[in-house]
Amino acid sequence: MTSFDHIFVSGATGYIAQHIISQLLSSGKTVIGSVRSIEKGEHLVKVFQDSKFSYVVVPILEKEGAFDEALKSHPELSIFLHTASPVSRQIDCKDPEKEIMIPAIDGTKYVLKSIKQHAPQIKRVVYTSSIVACANPEKFLDPTFVCGESTWGDMTYEQAKTNGFTAYVGSKTFAEREAWKFIETESPNFTLTSINPLYVLGPQIDPTKTKDLNLSAQIVGNVLNLKPDEPIPVFGGAMIDVRDVAKAHILAFEKDEAQGKRFVLAEAYFTNQTLLDIIRKEFPELHDVLPVGVPHDYDFSNRAAADDKNARSILKIDYISLETSVKDSIRQILDN
Ligand code: NAP
Repeated sequence: MTSFDHIFVSGATGYIAQHIISQLLSSGKTVIGSVRSIEKGEHLVKVFQDSKFSYVVVPILEKEGAFDEALKSHPELSIFLHTASPVSRQIDCKDPEKEIMIPAIDGTKYVLKSIKQHAPQIKRVVYTSSIVACANPEKFLDPTFVCGESTWGDMTYEQAKTNGFTAYVGSKTFAEREAWKFIETESPNFTLTSINPLYVLGPQIDPTKTKDLNLSAQIVGNVLNLKPDEPIPVFGGAMIDVRDVAKAHILAFEKDEAQGKRFVLAEAYFTNQTLLDIIRKEFPELHDVLPVGVPHDYDFSNRAAADDKNARSILKIDYISLETSVKDSIRQILDN
């Protein structure tokens, strides 16, 4: 393994990014994170309380050259982790293309261009993609389909513009495609690796975020908010704990054999009922305030399988279980 000590993380305020930064700082690395405002940067300084963390303000991700100054003023950087992308906007956006697709797609294209032009010393870039770049979501309910490191969604740009959710799917698919195309056509000094997680669950680095959970962390929060006589909304998917997603980003640049690869991260299938069963088992004090549903009534046989061979054989992370992930999330929410 080569040693890389100065790392740039875009979207440093994010749920996943904060875990990446925290793990990097714990291993003595120096981290520069990009944020959209000074207030957000100052808040992070308080969260991390580590002199090896600093921030730069990059207000508009999708502006060509947005990262130029940050890159020019930090010639010590050797790694760039690109996590910034609209996630929560898919719920209430008014203009899906403008609010979700353009920042994600142009943001990725331009950041790679800036790195090539202004930071030729950066040797490795990790792009935070998603499982939704590997297949259109309807394929996730096709038990004959194996979704993963060699598959792609084929939604058109026009279809993606339809609503917030399709725009998110399109944003991740087109942005990741742009990134690989850039490597092919521009032959930059850096290699690329993509991380394609399923639903990311698990606790926050910044406990104040438990009051305003990110979209995927809110999946567990939503179950905790159910009333005893409320029906349990039908919802499910596959998950990976946020701490393992962060670990994967780090191994993705540390390991030579990870370069040029896509890594699907998946640990366990779940439904709202699965989450409820875990919460009821682990937190008996919540029995009276939560519904019971139909315990252990879940069938995952109608789901596509996830092809995560690269991740299992190269990254070799001993994944945190669904039970531990849910338990740690709920404990943190109850304590804050
Ligand atoms: P998050 O907490 O919402 O973080 C998103 C980050 O991107 C924040 O730092 C946010 O900045 C920044 N951002 C959003 N829109 C932006 C824009 N237009 N311009 C500049 N910055 C912008 O979400 P997350 O779950 O950590 O997601 C991080 C990455 O993981 C994303 O690329 C996402 O697609 C990917 N991912 C997430 C999941 C999941 O289940 N969570 C699964 C697969 C892939 P502000 O704080 O200023 O808004």
